[in-house]
Amino acid sequence: MIHMAKPQMGAEEKQAVMEVLDSGIIAQGPRVKAFEEGFAAMCGVKHAIASSSGTTALHLAMLAHGIGEGDEVITSAFTFIASANSVLFTGAKPVFVDIDPRTFNMDPAKIEAAITKKTKAILPVHLYGLSCDMDPIMKIAEKHGLAVIEDACQSHGAEYKGKKVGSMGTGTFSLYPTKNMTSAEGGMITTNDSNIDELCRVLRQHGMRVRYYHDMLGYNFRMTDIHAAIGLAQLKKLEKFNAQRHANAEFLSANLKGVRTPFVPEGQTHVFHQYTIRVPNGKRDALRTYLNENGVGSEVYYPVPIHKQTFYVKDLGYDQSLPETEFATTEVLSLPVHPALSPSDLETIVSTVNDFMEKNS
Ligand SMILES: *Cc1c(COP(=O)(O)O)cnc(C)c1O
Repeated sequence: MIHMAKPQMGAEEKQAVMEVLDSGIIAQGPRVKAFEEGFAAMCGVKHAIASSSGTTALHLAMLAHGIGEGDEVITSAFTFIASANSVLFTGAKPVFVDIDPRTFNMDPAKIEAAITKKTKAILPVHLYGLSCDMDPIMKIAEKHGLAVIEDACQSHGAEYKGKKVGSMGTGTFSLYPTKNMTSAEGGMITTNDSNIDELCRVLRQHGMRVRYYHDMLGYNFRMTDIHAAIGLAQLKKLEKFNAQRHANAEFLSANLKGVRTPFVPEGQTHVFHQYTIRVPNGKRDALRTYLNENGVGSEVYYPVPIHKQTFYVKDLGYDQSLPETEFATTEVLSLPVHPALSPSDLETIVSTVNDFMEKNS
């Protein structure tokens, strides 16, 4: 089976973990600090704050921006549930706008109509490794005095007009094993704002500025030095990983037939966390079955948009229509694109998809 993801753990990661275990400092310590500095440099920002997951990074970023009860945050429903749940954790309400069907990202033209007196922030999600169209988003945010919190959990190293994702607003990243780089579990927040930096650090550690004196309600969202050691080793390989993903994607796009391959807008660098095609005419599920029977993994990200998830409908009362989002959930199919694929794996993926599309045209 050609799998959808394969974490790349080498001698460097193993040795780094052993060094931490031998050092006697295993909770948040010097490796976390070094990892934060390295990650900030990769993004081209002043500060990075490590956390226990992408979800807790999002949650911390929301809290640091003062999002809470009665506030609204504009985002996309075509994403992993954590994007919108991070808004709910604070007592605020996610407000969904539709996507651009070519990029699968939030359509900036839909944002202004969704702004109310309660809107506090925009949460663009850079899905599949491609940045949202940030110029219009930043402009709208500035005009209306809104914060921008980027969900870059799928787009480590992606660029928009020469800027790294996570450097335009407050960035949030996941370091889960299937992402472009990993620390096993972990997250990162990136910012140029020293107030946001300080608040994230305090909230990560039980609202504690001075040991055992608590100024506010905080959490334990810390990263361990064991995780940071893995993350540091992976950070050094990120560029190489992303270049391999890019080469794999180029091969797939040059050779796949009968399906819509990913669109990359001018001036952007896609890091292909996922390689996602659109399969027309209701053939997506049959293609997926065929791929599975022939040893090729694939996945639907995401089969149910957030505004149609059971608890959003039943418990929270969401009742809205997002036509492009809903249509995309019926057509998208992600194929393996990870850096461990061999040339023969790539040939197999192409020939299996093309065989099916030819037989079913
Ligand atoms: C993975 C992911 C998250 C959550 O990250 P975790 O590390 O799993 O908590 C949030 N948003 C998006 C878009 C993701 O892909």
